[in-house]
Amino acid sequence: MHGKPKGDGWYAALVVETEDRLHAVPDATEAVGVDLGVKTLATFSTGEAVANPKPLGRLLGKLRRLNRSLSRKRKGGKNREKAKIKLSRLHLRIRNVRTDALHKLTTRLATQYGTVAIEDLYVAGMLQNRHLSRALSDCGFGEFRRQLEYKCEMTGARVFVVDRFYPSSKMCSGCGTGQEMPLSQRTFSCACGLVIDRDHNAAMNLWRQALSSQSVERPALTAPRGDVKLVLVKQKRVGLYRNVQTL
Ligand SMILES: [Zn+2]
Repeated sequence: MHGKPKGDGWYAALVVETEDRLHAVPDATEAVGVDLGVKTLATFSTGEAVANPKPLGRLLGKLRRLNRSLSRKRKGGKNREKAKIKLSRLHLRIRNVRTDALHKLTTRLATQYGTVAIEDLYVAGMLQNRHLSRALSDCGFGEFRRQLEYKCEMTGARVFVVDRFYPSSKMCSGCGTGQEMPLSQRTFSCACGLVIDRDHNAAMNLWRQALSSQSVERPALTAPRGDVKLVLVKQKRVGLYRNVQTL
């Protein structure tokens, strides 16, 4: 979280830890490339696009309005303080909605694929709308990778991280030719004839990178029976939001 937003409220988190909670589906050996986005949560190299959770659009609209209203408030004034608290609560809500969506996404990836190829750092496209991107990146890309890595460890899938300087968006996934791709350009059209959604093209490139690296088979897992720990946490915390973590 950014800074220390002010707010109040209580929340309780139930944490259930199980060692062997996630299992790969049988024959989960295929590789997939995943491109994370702002407008779409994720695009797979298979062409599938995973939409953002529905409430997110509404919350982001609210965020824009609150940001504007904050900028109109007098510095040092009481109303500005109030607006700031509202804003930090909203950031927290967005974070929770997004984190929940990421859990569903990473669980699916870790259980259904043998290799998941992702980019090292998601900064491209993140700077167009500072507030929007901050709200998303706060809870977004680092969290995505963290979840993916620990879940893939459970299922035995491999996370293949593509170098951050690899031009996944600027290269044709069909023939490898490079071209400039301004952020506004949503479709990649190549002289070779390939016309493809920008994010899909990027995901395909990540997938290809994983394939061209050594082929790694899913290691056989001897699934240990994990202890189930039930932890009840009650703590003073910013924001009024239940943090429900689903694996
Ligand atoms: Zn091409």
